[in-house]
Amino acid sequence: MPTDTNENIDGAPETDTPYEYTGCPICGSSKRREGYRFEPPFTAAWCMECGTLYLHPRLKEQAMAERYAQLAYFDGANYQDYRKQERSLSRTFQSFLKRLERRGCLGGRLLELGSGLGWFLRASEGYFDERIGMDLSTEAASEASAYADSVLVGGIEQAPDGPFDLIAAIQVLEHVYDPDPFLSGIAQRLAPDGFAAIVVPDRGSWMRPLLGTRWPSFKIPEHLLYLNETDLRTLFERNGFTNVQRIAYPHAFPLDILAGFAGLSLPEALQTVPIWIPGTSLAMIAQRA
Ligand SMILES: [Zn+2]
Repeated sequence: MPTDTNENIDGAPETDTPYEYTGCPICGSSKRREGYRFEPPFTAAWCMECGTLYLHPRLKEQAMAERYAQLAYFDGANYQDYRKQERSLSRTFQSFLKRLERRGCLGGRLLELGSGLGWFLRASEGYFDERIGMDLSTEAASEASAYADSVLVGGIEQAPDGPFDLIAAIQVLEHVYDPDPFLSGIAQRLAPDGFAAIVVPDRGSWMRPLLGTRWPSFKIPEHLLYLNETDLRTLFERNGFTNVQRIAYPHAFPLDILAGFAGLSLPEALQTVPIWIPGTSLAMIAQRA
């Protein structure tokens, strides 16, 4: 919904810069105030119309797509060696699946958008008749295909028509340039009683005001949206969903990452020990209206 893509602080033609100066991705308003300042030119701006927080400016989508196409993205500096998180993320996904199971969200056909290296697909084995993953990275999709019936390269536009009984997007929506077609595309591919499950960093977390610009979910320039429960509910409800509910999402992290914050280095045997941290992520489920 961004509207003011031609706005540019130095007046140079938009084509000469890798950045775009868009309005609020939720409501389209250009009324904003600076909330956090990162490496120039990036800031996180508060929308004065709807109250959400978003990256401003942001990299143009094509520049970002090239970044994501590389498997190296998963090992980037912000990801602190993504593979070290395999053990703790797998535990996180197992816990999430148990919660989804209690709400009757499992069974039938699963589509996961942004399936990364396939650890959620692997954890979901036995819960579904068919599991399909999708990712923008060819290499990631290839690795993940060991854990699913198939893993396709692409985003929601390339996704099969369905119908699916569960469509999951875990830590994906905060990367999405246009959240409305993403969510409506999910709704269109759901079976009548199907569920969407969306997990994003929780802007309402106690960590953000405490850590300020050091909040780990300020992954610049990849994270474009910093949503709270109200924002995500709004997005769901205007894109064809009903019965929107928040569910708990305990998130485990490798001890190594926490030790890194404290400036400690750990023996290898301790580095991947999963530590549960509350309140980092916002998980919501919804059904097709
Ligand atoms: Zn707004």
